[in-house]
Amino acid sequence: MTETERSTLEERLHDVQQRIAQAARAAGRDPKEVLLVAATKMNDAERVQAAIQAGLTACGENRVQELLEKYEQGAYQGADLQFIGTLQSNKVKYLLGKVSLIQSVSSLKLAECIAKEAKKRNMCQDILLEVNIGREEAKSGFLVETLDSSLEALSKFPEIHIRGLMAIPPIPTGTDKNSRYFAEMRQLFVDISAKKYDNVSMDYLSMGMTADFEEAIRFGANIVRVGTAIFGRRPYPVGTGLSREIQ
Ligand SMILES: *Cc1c(COP(=O)(O)O)cnc(C)c1O
Repeated sequence: MTETERSTLEERLHDVQQRIAQAARAAGRDPKEVLLVAATKMNDAERVQAAIQAGLTACGENRVQELLEKYEQGAYQGADLQFIGTLQSNKVKYLLGKVSLIQSVSSLKLAECIAKEAKKRNMCQDILLEVNIGREEAKSGFLVETLDSSLEALSKFPEIHIRGLMAIPPIPTGTDKNSRYFAEMRQLFVDISAKKYDNVSMDYLSMGMTADFEEAIRFGANIVRVGTAIFGRRPYPVGTGLSREIQ
């Protein structure tokens, strides 16, 4: 990494941090309430470390294999590590003990698998439930109408603590961005907060990416997941299959 690349990365990170603070203040909220989780996929350990040295406090990774490789290289040292990508049940065991929060828990089966693995290790894993708020067939996540019964079922597992909700709304087409979906998420979050389930506390609402994190903050997001605005456009190495990841 050149010095120029390093200072560009620093500037971008500080710009994103300022925009988050401004959006929070504009919404009458304390900027400290909003956590920036950098989506670090496809950025190597050196770049991730450079961001952490520039003040980044939390990283979100998408793929288990990539996370393990970068973890070994010390990429995340000095920051909190979370998982934000599609997760297969058979890979859960590699994440436990390494990530503080699994944001992208998209089915009962996956949540139960996390509970089972956590039990083996005598630990409790913090998770968010991913909501398929746009009802998109190609996306995973809980449908709104199944959330209550799912929370009920999952409250029986003391090895998982549901700390909130996460969403990746459809790619915006019109001019009003994702406000409709953000508003729906906000309402769900408030409704669930008012109910009492064991092992559930609605602490985090994770939504908003490079294109719309300020909008998400206006609608109550307190975790935003930002990649491109910090690291620049992701490279897509030919033949790795990584080009099919969320862009
Ligand atoms: C890549 C990714 C992001 C960040 O996307 P950008 O548009 O680059 O900010 C956020 N959330 C998830 C789940 C991602 O995979």
